[in-house]
Amino acid sequence: MNNLKRTEILIAGGGIVGSLMAIALAENGFEVVLVDPSSETSSQTNRICRSYAISRTSKILLKNLGVWGNLDEKFEPITKIVLSEANKEAMDVTKLAEFDLQDESKEPTSYMVEDLEIRTALNLKLQASKNVEILTNCKVLSEEVAKGGSIISLDNDKRIYASLFVICDGPKSSIAKTINKKFIFKDYNQVAIVANVNHKNRHKGEAHQIFFTGGPIASLPLKGNRSAIVWSEEKKKGFHVSQSKKENFLEELKAKLSNVLVDISLDSEKYVFPLSLSILRDFVDERRVFIGDSAHTIHPLAGQGLNLGLRDIASLTEILVNGKKIGEDIGSIGLLKRYEQWRSFDRFLLSSYTDGINALFSNDNKILRALRRLGLKAIDSSTNLKTAFMNEAAGEYGHLPILLKEM
Ligand SMILES: Cc1cc2nc3c(=O)[nH]c(=O)nc-3n(C[C@H](O)[C@H](O)[C@H](O)COP(=O)(O)OP(=O)(O)OC[C@H]3O[C@@H](n4cnc5c(N)ncnc54)[C@H](O)[C@@H]3O)c2cc1C
Repeated sequence: MNNLKRTEILIAGGGIVGSLMAIALAENGFEVVLVDPSSETSSQTNRICRSYAISRTSKILLKNLGVWGNLDEKFEPITKIVLSEANKEAMDVTKLAEFDLQDESKEPTSYMVEDLEIRTALNLKLQASKNVEILTNCKVLSEEVAKGGSIISLDNDKRIYASLFVICDGPKSSIAKTINKKFIFKDYNQVAIVANVNHKNRHKGEAHQIFFTGGPIASLPLKGNRSAIVWSEEKKKGFHVSQSKKENFLEELKAKLSNVLVDISLDSEKYVFPLSLSILRDFVDERRVFIGDSAHTIHPLAGQGLNLGLRDIASLTEILVNGKKIGEDIGSIGLLKRYEQWRSFDRFLLSSYTDGINALFSNDNKILRALRRLGLKAIDSSTNLKTAFMNEAAGEYGHLPILLKEM
C-alpha cells in the first residue's frame, strides 16, 4: 500500500459533470484527483457544436462555484416556451400551450449556453483550483474496495487509493458495466439530430417544441439570430435525415419548423445521438457513487439531463461537507445512502416525466391525441399548473441544497 498514490476523492470522468464536481469539492476543502481519457478535461478537441438549456438553479450553482465569471454575456435567456403539435397530414401546427416568464422581477427559468463557453469557463476554474490534480490521457479500468478506502486502477498502470470514488463517465458507463451494476434500460428507437442554424427573423428568446409522431423537434434561442435544433426522430429515418445533403436537410427542417424560423441556413455540422432511458438501480455502494449521465440518461425533450447532473453535484457536496464536519467517514454506505435518498425523487420524477411525454406524443392514437390536447389546454388555462411547470423547469422544487440557493 505504501507505493500507492493517495487522495481523499477520485473522480472518473472530466465531462461537464465531473469537472464541476471536482470544483465543488475542491472549493469545500476536499483533496481531489480527476481522471479523464482525453488530453484535457471537458475536452474541446472532440467538441461538437451543441448547447444546453440550463435552469435558473443550475445558473446559481455555477455562480456559487465561481464558474459563472463572464458567462453572463454568453447565456441567452429563454423568455417563452411554446408547445405545439403537428397536424397529421398538413405540415402545419396547432399551438397547445405557451409558458411566459410570469414574474418580471424574477430571472428567466432557463438559459441557453453553448458547450464551448461552459467548457472554457470550467477549464479556467479547474486550472486555478489548488486542491485538484488532473490526470488526462488515462482512464479508470477497475476498482477494488479495501479497508477504509478503494484502490482504483488506471490504464497507465497507476493505482490510487481514495476514501471515495465518484463516477461520472457518462451514458453507458463502462465502469458500471465492469462491476456488473444493474440498469433500468429502454431503447427509444429514436435518435436526436442536433445542429445550430442561422435565420433571418429574431427569435426573441422564444423556445419552440413541436410534437410529431416520430418525436419532437425543438428550436432553442442562441446568441444573435441563431438557434439550436434538437430534432428527435424514429431511428431509421433519423439516420437517413442526418446523412442527407445539406439542401435536402434544410428543406425538411423548414417544413417541420413551420414558420418558427425564417430563411434558415446551417451554422454547424449535424450530429446524431441515439436516445434511450438508462437508470442505475442503485447509484451508491460502499465507497462509490455514480452521478450525472452515468447514473441517469433521460430523453432530451425537456432539456433536463445536465441539470439533473448539476443537482447531483450540489446535493453530494452538501452531504459530504456535513459528514466530514462531524467526523463521518465520507465513503461510508450510511452517508452515501443519505445522498441516494435525497436524489431519488428528482431522478424518478424527471425520468418518468420525459418517458411519459415522449410516449404520449410519439403516437398517432386518436384517443391519446385528444387526451394530450385536453391535458395541455388545461395546463395552458391554469395559472397554478403553469407556475408548477415553470418551477420544475427552473429546478425549484423539493428540498434545495445550499449551492442551489443565492448566497
Ligand atoms: C440531443 C441532446 C440534447 C440535450 N440537451 C440538454 C439540455 O438542453 N439541457 C440539459 O440539461 N441536458 C441536455 N442533454 C443532456 C446532457 O447532454 C448530458 O446530461 C450531459 O452532457 C452529461 O454530462 P456528463 O459529464 O455526465 O457525461 P459526459 O459528457 O458523457 O462525460 C463523461 C466523461 O467521462 C469520461 N470517461 C469515460 N469513460 C471513462 C473512464 N473509464 N475513466 C475516466 N473517464 C472516463 C469521458 O471521456 C467524458 O469526458 C442533452 C442530451 C442530448 C443527447
